Amino acid sequence: MDIQFLGTGAGQPSKTRNVSSLALKLLDEINEVWLFDCGEGTQNRILETTIRPRKISKIFITHLHGDHIFGLPGFLSSRAFQANEEQTDLEIYGPQGIKSFVLTSLRVSGSRLPYRIHFHEFDQNSLGKILETDKFTVYVEELDHTIFCVGYRVMQKDLEGTLDAEKLKAAGVPFGPLFGKIKNGQDVVLEDGTEIKAADYISAPRPGKIITILGDTRQTNASVRLAVNADVLVHESTYGKGDEKIARSHGHSTNMQAAQVAAEAGAKRLLLNHISARFLSKDVSQLKKDAASIFENVHVVKDLEEVEV
Ligand SMILES: [Zn+2]
Repeated sequence: MDIQFLGTGAGQPSKTRNVSSLALKLLDEINEVWLFDCGEGTQNRILETTIRPRKISKIFITHLHGDHIFGLPGFLSSRAFQANEEQTDLEIYGPQGIKSFVLTSLRVSGSRLPYRIHFHEFDQNSLGKILETDKFTVYVEELDHTIFCVGYRVMQKDLEGTLDAEKLKAAGVPFGPLFGKIKNGQDVVLEDGTEIKAADYISAPRPGKIITILGDTRQTNASVRLAVNADVLVHESTYGKGDEKIARSHGHSTNMQAAQVAAEAGAKRLLLNHISARFLSKDVSQLKKDAASIFENVHVVKDLEEVEV
């Protein structure tokens, strides 16, 4: 799986950074792409990638500030206009109000979609597990911003061990129903009396990945809980070292606070986004350098950058 950043700027677009959106590409896992936030111009950014809008099956919104949702009406409308592709339904998860925003925008602009949108709204009282499929579970918790805002923890279920068919053949197991039994963990005895222990022919299950994607937030314990043992933590870094006070008053974090969260949570990797246009490229290198003094495996992402998880 990969994360592709579509917009990594804070508040307003700049020439190099668009407003917030990222795509979690789960093509090998479930042949779907999940979008997190959809700032204005997200559809234009998608045109510069290989992402097919029809593959986007779910959109998760962190909060209702404009730089995170104003791209929705445009994206949803364009998604309807791709010829020669089947219309597929879409799920939108987000704070209460997202349904009214989307439906109002579509209604007043006379937009009619040839596919269905299923809304899943939540508020302070309905957080926790919001989605479970056979491959993934998604949890939300409330963060600490100037309006209700959440972070998402996407947990892939453990991947089953695979059967070593070559080794079984070499052991003289005839191809057929016995393979199925062994795959299900059952020990078997062959006609010649040979005992086959299933565990010797199945690789150990691989732990699923954990991806934590946070909305705008002050430093808070909720972020740490969401990021426990995460393979990747995507955390905002609207401000830099020394600006902790102003960050707090505006409902945001500094790079140092993001690094503290990653360290406390035992995350493996920290990706900083929501970068202010005030920062020039040398400031961005400094953001990384300073954060690395607390959490070493840190990187400041750019628009269109793709990161393998
Ligand atoms: Zn915000």
